[in-house]
Amino acid sequence: MSLLEVDNIAKHFPVKRGLFGTDYVRAVDGVSFDVAVGETVALVGESGCGKSTVGRLILRLIEASAGAVRFAGHDLYRLGGDEMRVMRRRLQIVFQDPYASLNPRMTVGQMLEEPLALHALVPPNKRRGRVVELLELVGMNAQHAQRYPHEFSGGQRQRIGIARALAVEPQLIVCDEPVSALDVSIQAQVINLLRDLQQGLGLSYLFIAHDLAVVKHIANRVAVMYLGKIVELAETEALFNTPRHPYTQALLSAIPVPVPHSARHRTLLQGDLPSPLNPPSGCAFHPRCPHAIEICQTTAPVLEQAADSLGGHAVSCHRWREIVGPPRPPAAAPSGKTALERLQEAFQHN
Ligand code: SF4
Repeated sequence: MSLLEVDNIAKHFPVKRGLFGTDYVRAVDGVSFDVAVGETVALVGESGCGKSTVGRLILRLIEASAGAVRFAGHDLYRLGGDEMRVMRRRLQIVFQDPYASLNPRMTVGQMLEEPLALHALVPPNKRRGRVVELLELVGMNAQHAQRYPHEFSGGQRQRIGIARALAVEPQLIVCDEPVSALDVSIQAQVINLLRDLQQGLGLSYLFIAHDLAVVKHIANRVAVMYLGKIVELAETEALFNTPRHPYTQALLSAIPVPVPHSARHRTLLQGDLPSPLNPPSGCAFHPRCPHAIEICQTTAPVLEQAADSLGGHAVSCHRWREIVGPPRPPAAAPSGKTALERLQEAFQHN
């Protein structure tokens, strides 16, 4: 059952052109997906592709230009201010920057008590106890409640951010690049923590990241975004083993492989992400795509699921069948393990 349904949502930011004209930055341009109860869906793409804007649109931190967001059967864009405030308790966000997202003037205990008081979730005499429970839930302890954010490492601050999100007992957490600012070894710890919390509490996550290697360990499904649109959406294993969109293939080829001198083909993308103010005609990826042909410049492909696709594998590319070729078994490494298994192993060792 879907907990969250995002239906054709768009965000076009107006920008002045000349004295009287207005142009629009199409930051998000018709994005649809859903998240089931207990599921993690990852949104992945380069900086500027619109993935963080989607997260903010879902929480109504910014208002959508078009489309709808339904959460637990409620159309969020039809809720009034008070109703939305109540709903936000069930929808939380963990931000990318653990340094900037915590109030430097409050102790950790005060920060965690604040939402408990605001939403009247716990009586005053039981709040200290609940703060300790929350800290222990994220691998910290009661002594940490007395300290200020500057006294913690980046990984600990992100744990505090997660504890603060958990304080209001949410059903869905938007994790907006939660590990991008952390060292690789700490990234694995935070991802393992999020996964354990999900299993223990039945949470759903929308996990936003620019690095496909990071989402592989936690996501059930992955949506790849390019210039405000989803270009491929599939179950994680299918996306990593048989990527169909040339952009997904390029992102995957950039993931470092922990096997020295292993033969691999790296697809280097030419140029930068085009401006969403003036996106290319046809398929927006065509100026950078090594497979582009004439139709790609004139006709935009639609995101569609092939009739023979299992697990809802959808792709928006005119030529994906030619590019992927006939079905074949997943490539095995010299050790006999697939790329997915090798990366999972690397995470488990951290
Ligand atoms: Fe490349 Fe054309 Fe497919 Fe776009 S539609 S990804 S340009 S082959």
